[in-house]
Amino acid sequence: MLTGCGKSDDVLVVGTNASFPPFEYVGGASGDEIMGFDIDLAQQIAKDAGKTLKIENMNFDSLIVALNAGKVDFIASGMTITPERQASVNFSEPYYEATQMVLVNKDNNSINSLDDLKDKHIAVQLGSTGDIMAKSYSQQVTAFNSGFEAVMELKNAKVDLVLFDSEPAISFLEKNPQLKMVELDFSPEFYGFAVAKDKVELLNSINTSLSTMKQNGGYDALVSKHMK
Ligand code: GLN
Repeated sequence: MLTGCGKSDDVLVVGTNASFPPFEYVGGASGDEIMGFDIDLAQQIAKDAGKTLKIENMNFDSLIVALNAGKVDFIASGMTITPERQASVNFSEPYYEATQMVLVNKDNNSINSLDDLKDKHIAVQLGSTGDIMAKSYSQQVTAFNSGFEAVMELKNAKVDLVLFDSEPAISFLEKNPQLKMVELDFSPEFYGFAVAKDKVELLNSINTSLSTMKQNGGYDALVSKHMK
């Protein structure tokens, strides 16, 4: 049976932005598989709901719009639970604690405290919590559609630093030995899966899957599989 927007009832559509390793990225043997921690969690959520997971990859700042337009059933994209987002979507229980991280070129020793971010040229991912935070420190913020592009800009010395979530920052660092990470005193952020406000049943089923995975060791196994 088909629903209004052409989706089959036995398919659960997850929206993600696959440029956020190790949570979601493009890779695998074929080189075009979307994989990662969030994707494995989403697979289990779909399985528990008796559905097949379909992945829609899009820009991070399009995800909430797609969710509320019914194009995706939920978002799994390292999305931080914030009061602003909670005004338009519901979040699952938090499933991962993260924080912001600064990436700079190795020869840059000018950033040692949050105060040092003042009026530095900062590259961020459009619509991310890093984007919002960077703007609270500096007037010079350039937002890109992906973290990859922000890092590229830093490597080309067009910006002073990238402000990005810690785990993907560590991932980018491994591939870019000319960069280093500076840990500053940022507050913790908590990732949640987002669902449309009226999809209470789906939200409950996501929360049940998450708590089952936390109890049966499935969650910890995925942390060991994906995190350094
Ligand atoms: N956690 C950050 C946010 O929610 C970044 C997420 C992302 O870029 N995928 O804004």
